Amino acid sequence: MRLIILGPPGAGKGTQAAKIADKFGIPAISTGDIFRANIKNETPLGLQVKEVLASGGYVTDDITNAIVRDRLFEDDAEQGFLLDGFPRTAAQVETLDAILAEHGHALEAVLELTVDQEAVVQRLLKRAEIEGREDDTEEVIRERQAIYRRETAPLTEVYSARGLLVQVDGMGSVDDVFLRISEALEGVARS
Ligand code: AMP
Repeated sequence: MRLIILGPPGAGKGTQAAKIADKFGIPAISTGDIFRANIKNETPLGLQVKEVLASGGYVTDDITNAIVRDRLFEDDAEQGFLLDGFPRTAAQVETLDAILAEHGHALEAVLELTVDQEAVVQRLLKRAEIEGREDDTEEVIRERQAIYRRETAPLTEVYSARGLLVQVDGMGSVDDVFLRISEALEGVARS
């Protein structure tokens, strides 16, 4: 399976991505996780993107595209993958198309977790408080949502036009949402 998971920050993409990856035996590839690991290890890339992540903005396409290209050429991604957090812009959609074409591969589905935005903001505020994420102020949290709406939400139309979009209600418990995703993806695997 070659999949993308879309949804605003706080929709639970990372949690569901890990479960989907486990079920289908494919790697879950999160650009956000790759950036955060580089920041933690203080690599040159980490130092370069640290400020951008803290502000809630997007890392430039040239940096992000290079990272995804390298990652998708690793052996474990040959049989399939689930991308979480990429593509996020129209230009990144084109890059992914080009990478897949080089491999002679195609996407099976683009899963969108639909959520109530205000509920998600409240969830993120609570998490920031509990985990002591001082950088995650309400302003930054709302800015990330606004950037998602502006830059990334339009990608659902692109993938819908290609007949790839699978929308799943992302509200409810982790298990309930995963059940819905599993049912939706079984439909994809059968078709
Ligand atoms: P995430 O964990 O997916 O919410 O990503 C955390 C942060 O990493 C984002 O707020 C961006 O700053 C950066 N990031 C992750 N993926 C991308 C991407 N595809 N394009 C640009 N920036 C990204």
